[in-house]
Amino acid sequence: MTKKATIIPIILPTPFDVGPVNCVLLKGDAVTLVDSGAKTEESREILISSLKEHGLTFKDLDQYICTHYHPDHAGLSKEIQDFGVPTLMLQEAVPYVSVDREFTEWAESFYINLYDSFGVPNSLGRIELVKLRKYRTFSNPFVPDILPAPGDAVPGHEGFVFLKTPGHAPDHLSLYSEREGTLIGGDVLLPHISSNALLEPPPMGGTERPKTLLQYRETLQHLLALHLEMVYPGHGEPFTNAHDLIRKRLLDHNERAKALEHLLSDEPLTVFELCARLFPKLYEKQLGLVVSEVAGHLDLLESEGRVSIDKEKAAFYYRRTGVVR
Ligand SMILES: [Zn+2]
Repeated sequence: MTKKATIIPIILPTPFDVGPVNCVLLKGDAVTLVDSGAKTEESREILISSLKEHGLTFKDLDQYICTHYHPDHAGLSKEIQDFGVPTLMLQEAVPYVSVDREFTEWAESFYINLYDSFGVPNSLGRIELVKLRKYRTFSNPFVPDILPAPGDAVPGHEGFVFLKTPGHAPDHLSLYSEREGTLIGGDVLLPHISSNALLEPPPMGGTERPKTLLQYRETLQHLLALHLEMVYPGHGEPFTNAHDLIRKRLLDHNERAKALEHLLSDEPLTVFELCARLFPKLYEKQLGLVVSEVAGHLDLLESEGRVSIDKEKAAFYYRRTGVVR
C-alpha cells in the first residue's frame, strides 16, 4: 500500500512586498519539501524549526522541489541541496537559478532595450536594474539535480504529477493529483491578489519578447479543465473555489485591457505614459510590476486586433484600432 500524501504548509516571512510565503511539506512514501523561502536568517530559522516539529532536518528530506526561480520560493535551495537532497526544477529554471553569467548579461540588456521601447526614462530604468540585482541576492546560485518533464510522476507521491504552469515565471511548475483534485500551485493562482505575469527575456538568441500574460491565460485555461478541489498557494490560505477564482482572474484581465483601450481613445501613448495614467500612485515605486501589468494587457489587446503599435520612433506608440470585440 502506498501512503496518501499528507500536505503540511509551512509559512515563512519574506523581506518582499508580497509578505509571507508558503512552503509545503509533503509526506507520503517520500518526504518532500516544496519551496524554501527567501535567503534570510529569520526565514532559515523558522524553516528549520518547522521541520523539527515534524521530527525532520534538511538531511531527512528525500527530495526538494522548487516551483519557480523567484527568491521568495527558491532562496534556500542551495543550502538544502548542500545536505545531499536531490533538487528538482523544470529545465527552464536552469539559467536563472544557476545565475549563468551570459544569460544574466543577456537579460539585463534585454530589459534596458525593452524599457527604451516602452519610453521609460533612463534614470528610472537604471533603478529597476539595481532592484533586480538586489532581488537576486536573496537566493544562492545552484544547479538543479533533476529536471522533470511536464507530466512526469512525482517520485514517492503516487497520483501526483508535475504540471508546467508558466506565465508568472517561465519555469513555473505545480504539483497536481487528479485523483484528489489537489494542486500545490506556487504562484499560479493566489487567493487574495492576482498573480503578476512578469516580463521576461526570450531564451538567449531569441528576438521576440515572450507574451507572458497570454502564456499565463493559457495556463489558467488549462487549469480550468482540471478537477480541482483544493489549492495550496504560494501565498495566502489554501482554498477550494479554484474554478470561480480562475474565471474571475480571466474577467479581470479583460476589464483592465478595456481600461487601457479607453485611455488610448484620444491619442496614441507609450507603455510608460499608460503606466503613469493607470497607476499614478504606484508607477514610480513599483515600475517593474506596473510595466509588466500594462505591457501584458496591451499584448492581450494586440492579440485581439484592438491596438496597433507604431515602431517608427525610439519609443513604441500604442494606438487604438477601434476594432470592437
Ligand atoms: Zn511568490
